[in-house]
Amino acid sequence: MPNDNGQQTIKFGQLFDETADIFEALSGTCKTAKKYKVVAYDAEQLWQGQNTETLITLLKETHDGIKIRPRRTLRNKHGANAKSSGFGRASLSFQNPQCHKCTKTVYPMEFVGASDKAFHKNCFRCTTCSSTLSKNDYCVSADGMFRCSAHHREFELGVCPATTTASPACIHVR
Ligand SMILES: [Zn+2]
Ligand SMILES: [Zn+2]
Repeated sequence: MPNDNGQQTIKFGQLFDETADIFEALSGTCKTAKKYKVVAYDAEQLWQGQNTETLITLLKETHDGIKIRPRRTLRNKHGANAKSSGFGRASLSFQNPQCHKCTKTVYPMEFVGASDKAFHKNCFRCTTCSSTLSKNDYCVSADGMFRCSAHHREFELGVCPATTTASPACIHVR
């Protein structure tokens, strides 16, 4: 339910009821989400049965490249849409994702999110020259590979000689 600031909130007990069949370690997931400042709640650790009245606030609707769907319909837990609502499933789905490059687990310390994919900082490199990319400065080429802006342009020119500027797929900001 929206609070005074228009932010989405949910009680842990309700979140647990709705997501227990989806998340094996919901409290750990919440902890990670809290560390990322995606959610806020007033507890060090959430325990089933103990923190059912703890209010969890959804602070933002995106986390790096990963979109978080706002909870569209919030009804009581017996409501028709409760199971399919987006709060738990979508907003917390970034916990320890797999690296798009090496497929190993990415822990928060080394996480880089780009184009809805997760990378280790060390794995997020230009496909052509292997220079390190940052989440604010990278390009996705037409082949779906990540490149630095220079090699992205070189690649796109190679694909289509008519292209003289970076294609719309190029999303680097600097
Ligand atoms: Zn990796
Ligand atoms: Zn490069």
